[in-house]
This record gives sequence, C-alpha cells and structure tokens, in this order.
Amino acid sequence: MLIPTITIDGPVASGKGTVARAVAHALGFHLLDSGAIYRAFAFSCRQKSIDILNYKDLADEAKVLSLEFVGENVLLNGTDATADIRSETVGMLASKLSAISDVRAGLLERQRAFACEPGLVADGRDMGTVVFPDATLKIYLTATADVRGSRRFGQLSDASHADAATSKLDDVIAQIRSRDQQDKSRAIAPLKPAKEAIVIDNARQTKQETIDSILALWSIQTRSS
Ligand code: C5P
Repeated sequence: MLIPTITIDGPVASGKGTVARAVAHALGFHLLDSGAIYRAFAFSCRQKSIDILNYKDLADEAKVLSLEFVGENVLLNGTDATADIRSETVGMLASKLSAISDVRAGLLERQRAFACEPGLVADGRDMGTVVFPDATLKIYLTATADVRGSRRFGQLSDASHADAATSKLDDVIAQIRSRDQQDKSRAIAPLKPAKEAIVIDNARQTKQETIDSILALWSIQTRSS
C-alpha cells in the first residue's frame, strides 16, 4: 500500500529542513532528514579514515552504519553526533561521497524504511526523483545563492553551530555555490526538481508562509484524489 508522502527537495539552506519538520508536525507524519543520513555517513567514514576512493569500504560502511534518530538528535554508534555532522566540512564531504553510486544504493532502503503510516515528509535532494517517485505531493524549495548564504550566515551566529565564528558572508555564499554545483552536476541522482514537483521560490516568504502554502497544497491534493 502506498504511504501518503510529501517530498521536499532543494539546495543547501533553502529552508527545507525546518519546513519539512513543521509540515510533518502539523500533519502528524514521520520525518526523514536524508541529508543527516549522508552527513552521518560522511562523518563516520572520516572517523574510520576510509579513503574517498575506496568504493568497496564506502559501500560496506553505508550498509553497516549504526544510525538512530531520537527527536532532533542523531546518534551515530550510540553517540550523539548532532552538532558534529552539521559542519560545512562534513556537508562538503557528504556531497562528494553522495556522488558515488554504491554509496547511494547502500543508503536507499534505509531511507525508504521511513515511509510508515500515517505518512511521511521526506527532505533531501532526490526524494521526489529517486527515493519516493510515487510521492503524493512533490515540492522543490529554492532561493538564490545570495539569499540562502545570508540565511546560513545568520544561523552561524548561534554559538552552538559547528562553524560558528569561523565564517564570513562571502565565504558562506561561495561554499553554497560550490555545493550547489557539485550536487547539480553529478551523474547519479542530481539535484533537480522532479517532473511533477511544484517549485516554490521562498526568497520573499517567511518560513510560516512556506509551511502554510505546502499545507494548503497538501489539502488540495488529498481532497482531489
Ligand atoms: O541537506 P544537507 O546539506 O544536510 O545534505 C548534505 C549533502 O548530502 C548534500 O550536499 C548532498 O550532496 C547530499 N545529499 C544527497 N541526497 C539527499 C540528501 C543529501 O545527495 N537526499
């Protein structure tokens, strides 16, 4: 049976994480933060010093990775890795490793397992294109790199962030452009809107407006099906 699913894809700092969490909460649905899976995988590979060119060990690690989501926390091998996986260094490594097909294949079923009743909100890069091709509603959230860079820069003023106090606005925007380029140009599961996706440019929207528009689209979609 098909589980009601909303996919929210988009580039780094498009706000999809916060929006997906709020939409899942409003509907009482499960939440999949697929980026956290790729980040935790990258962090674990770094901890184990697995070579980025050693595809066999990378693929094995993707299968055995011990990962648990407890509320907003990510436990890697039983240890809280929530803050560690949020650094841009780990994000960039995740972006490099996620271009490897064996890695994506090794992490696929782990993501699909999140689809349970009463429904799922899944956020990432390929949720609508690859992981949940039959999703009920597909959203692609975006804004210009400058807008997303300013947002990310604002988040870095939070002292608990892994990259706090080490970044300048121009550097943050450059990092975002570089990760966009890497995620959009890879051969497997590149970042792009699914054919059926509704594209929302949220540059001029508050988070609440974006959340409300997705909830309204969900309500129209489920009323008509
Ligand atoms: O969304 P987040 O910035 O946490 O994701 C980190 C990286 O993981 C992305 O830049 C992307 O390369 C990769 N990723 C992916 N597919 C997903 C989610 C994330 O390739 N579904």
